[in-house]
Amino acid sequence: MASIIPNEKIEQVRIASDIVDVVSGYLTLKKQGQNFFGICPFHQEKTPSFSVNPAMQIFHCFGCGAGGNVFTFIMRIEGVTFPESVKLLAQAAGIVLPEEEENIEALHEKEALFFANKFAATHFLENLTSSPQAEKARSYLANRGITAEMYEQYGIGYALAGWDNLIKTAREHSINPARLFKAGLVLENKEGGFYDRFRDRVTFAVYNLSGQIVAFGARRLVDDDSPKYINSPETDIYQKRFTLYGLYWGREHIRKAEEVVIVEGYTDLISLSQAGLKNVVATSGTALTEEHVRLLKRYTPNAILLYDSDSAGAAAAIRGADLLLENGMEVRIAQLPPNQDPDEFARQKGEPAIRSMLSQAMPLIEFKIKSLEEKGLLRTAAQRADSTRNLLSSISKIKDHIQRSFIVRDLADRLHVDEAVMWSEIRKYDKQNRLVVKREDSNFPKDLEKYFETRRGSAELGLLEYMLLSPHDAHKIFQNVSADDLKHGEIRHLFKQVQSDLDILPEQDMLIYLSTIKEPLIAQRLSQTFTQRHKNSLSWKFAVDCIKSLQLSVVDEEIETVRNTLRGNRDPALESEDMTKKLLTLYDRRKRVQKGEFITEN
Ligand SMILES: [Zn+2]
Repeated sequence: MASIIPNEKIEQVRIASDIVDVVSGYLTLKKQGQNFFGICPFHQEKTPSFSVNPAMQIFHCFGCGAGGNVFTFIMRIEGVTFPESVKLLAQAAGIVLPEEEENIEALHEKEALFFANKFAATHFLENLTSSPQAEKARSYLANRGITAEMYEQYGIGYALAGWDNLIKTAREHSINPARLFKAGLVLENKEGGFYDRFRDRVTFAVYNLSGQIVAFGARRLVDDDSPKYINSPETDIYQKRFTLYGLYWGREHIRKAEEVVIVEGYTDLISLSQAGLKNVVATSGTALTEEHVRLLKRYTPNAILLYDSDSAGAAAAIRGADLLLENGMEVRIAQLPPNQDPDEFARQKGEPAIRSMLSQAMPLIEFKIKSLEEKGLLRTAAQRADSTRNLLSSISKIKDHIQRSFIVRDLADRLHVDEAVMWSEIRKYDKQNRLVVKREDSNFPKDLEKYFETRRGSAELGLLEYMLLSPHDAHKIFQNVSADDLKHGEIRHLFKQVQSDLDILPEQDMLIYLSTIKEPLIAQRLSQTFTQRHKNSLSWKFAVDCIKSLQLSVVDEEIETVRNTLRGNRDPALESEDMTKKLLTLYDRRKRVQKGEFITEN
């Protein structure tokens, strides 16, 4: 459930979170004059153009225009919402938010789970590094290019053979096995006692986005009939559908590379990472979920699937690819030489070969056609018709219409199907897809960005800029504009805030308003204003133009409403005379607005 964090708590968090400290957690900052500079985490660059202003508590990138306050920095870099950014910063500052106060017990429960996992990880690591029984684990890992220096870095360990090694060690540390049970590390036997879940297996710690261990994956070392991999069960801190192995390490690289490589196994990811490819996540045995895709989309819209070259790998890749495509991501499928997995390939061929293989990754549709051809499913006319229908559902999900039409033409040629028939099929799918597309398009930032380019949107933003830079003149704005004329919720809210502070405005530090903005795009625009413009540098004429644009928008919207009513009127005699009169009055008003007759200047 979403909870509302009280303003005074937000203020408390804001004060406790110095922007230089917070940003320094993500990149290296160097002091230059009053400001700090670093390499921008939001675009690719070699010379630092990302600036942090400690006095104003804002950041601004001169390269890509990114900017905002400490909250919007966290929102953008962590890909979280405003309340989540407050929570993250509160956590770092040791401030307990009210929602958590109520759930302090639940919080302790979670802490206990994190603790149990961390304890187990330490135990497994100790086994792997120093137990004589771990020799086969060490040689298994060494065969995969995983050396002792990498154990700790990747959270690798070894669970000893036997039923109660973890339990015994826990007892030595006065840890109740019941705590291990809650974390899924041990299982309950019929007598009500416990035994270790992971036995004689290499363990891989799974981290959440805060770098805490939430689960383990464990690989068997002997070829018996037990599953090759087993995982921790789901707990309060671990839900498979939300967790991607390696995202904690890889997310910054994914953002910078503007691409994510998705693999299946733990060792695939580790080998690729060792070879120098860091923008990788692993599904670690579970199928890709919608939640995974949404998580990835925070960082990049482009994905490459790199699965085993066997047919099971190809089938899994296609399933995952469809899901990515449906959720609006660009998907390509990389192909390994026959009988190889990414792990092996990375170790044997090294980074240049990996990059070249990835650069040849095929768009999903091409990949599908190729596998149908290979399976001999495109020979007869009936087969081709079936396959075409199958492919069209994927094609209809491609958002780039130019790319789409190329594919359709190519497909028509290759499968000897009439292009027109294909298009009429695609249109059917289009109708089904439209709802999904609409919902996505209304998301930040696309629409808001467009809104600020409209007459009304740019006027609203402009008025806000003017007020913040010229607090002495803010009262003149309020004589001409009522907050209720403003459409954007947060701008309206800021307007009201400034208006209620009107008496103290001349002494007020206007940055205080900037620091409370929740909408990243507004924070970005305004931090740009404060960074690049001086106080009082916007002219009154600028404000007048904004007021006029806003007044015109209001009149035009009224005119539009009346016109619509007239159009929708079935009985022309009814009331249409009144409406026409009203329309004429509005036209007249519009002319006078244009002349500036409704603008007061004192
Ligand atoms: Zn930048």
